[in-house]
Amino acid sequence: MAIHTVKVACPLFLYMVSKTALLYSERYLEHDTGRDHPERSERVKSIYEFLKQSDLFENLLILEPKPATFEDITLVHTRSYIDRVKRACEQGERFFDSPDTAISPKSYEVAFLAAGGVLTLVDAVMTEKARNGFALVRPPGHHAEREMALGFCLFNNVAIAAKYVQKKYRIERVLIVDWDLHHGNGTQHIFEDDPTVFYFSTHQYPFYPGTGSEHEIGRGKGKGRTLNVPLRAGSGDKEYQYAFQEILSPQALAFKPEFVLISCGFDAHEDDPLGQMNLKDESYGFFTDIVRKLAREGGQERIVSVLEGGYNLEAICRSAYVHLKHLMI
Ligand SMILES: [Zn+2]
Repeated sequence: MAIHTVKVACPLFLYMVSKTALLYSERYLEHDTGRDHPERSERVKSIYEFLKQSDLFENLLILEPKPATFEDITLVHTRSYIDRVKRACEQGERFFDSPDTAISPKSYEVAFLAAGGVLTLVDAVMTEKARNGFALVRPPGHHAEREMALGFCLFNNVAIAAKYVQKKYRIERVLIVDWDLHHGNGTQHIFEDDPTVFYFSTHQYPFYPGTGSEHEIGRGKGKGRTLNVPLRAGSGDKEYQYAFQEILSPQALAFKPEFVLISCGFDAHEDDPLGQMNLKDESYGFFTDIVRKLAREGGQERIVSVLEGGYNLEAICRSAYVHLKHLMI
């Protein structure tokens, strides 16, 4: 009798306590940017292998991405832009729109799989298969404008996901938290006149790509829904914690987000070769805790985190570990 009870109780228990998801595919390695490019395939491969060896792995729900449809990508980008990306990849171009955005013949397909991976994770969270999750995708997205590639980014994965969750699940208010070293110019511009998407960014400033001053606050109906916290080179936990606790928190709580997307770059880490910021591995645990608290107080704790930058292979592995651990607590 006792054995029978255990058999019934176990699956029910597992069903009710859904896991944190990790989304990844080896196909992300097929976007070939060349051996010396900072945004290279070893980034996601290293993070995945590191997590696979870690104590977290057995408690993660591992998800495989489905590619985005053409229609999904048009939620943000114009048809002519998407066709332009396709043609450049087919014709074997090495760079697209800017000299830092390297492409290869497979990049178009892989970029669809990156955006689609984020949407796969959104579906898992919205249908409660996963409680939250991290999409280990590339190419990254937050510099991509509606009609222009920039800063290693082809399609704006997070912006597409925000539009998708609003359309498919009738979510009204989406918060995007962008803690990448760089300002997410693309994401800001896509939503700057949209009152339903709140964009928050901390970033080294002045720095690439040049946007993100505190005076950029959105426009028209979106005025007040863009919140930039530009930080001087050399900033660390003290400055970032102030930005998250004192600047983001009150405004995000007033916004009452129903869904939260994180543009999760690890390039503000002290070991990163591209930036001059001083974050530690544990800083990403602090950010994760704050964002979870904001999401929870918004009503439903729905969070999808998406890899953006981060270029020191060891630092990004350790930081991703801490981030996931704090998503799982
Ligand atoms: Zn970055």
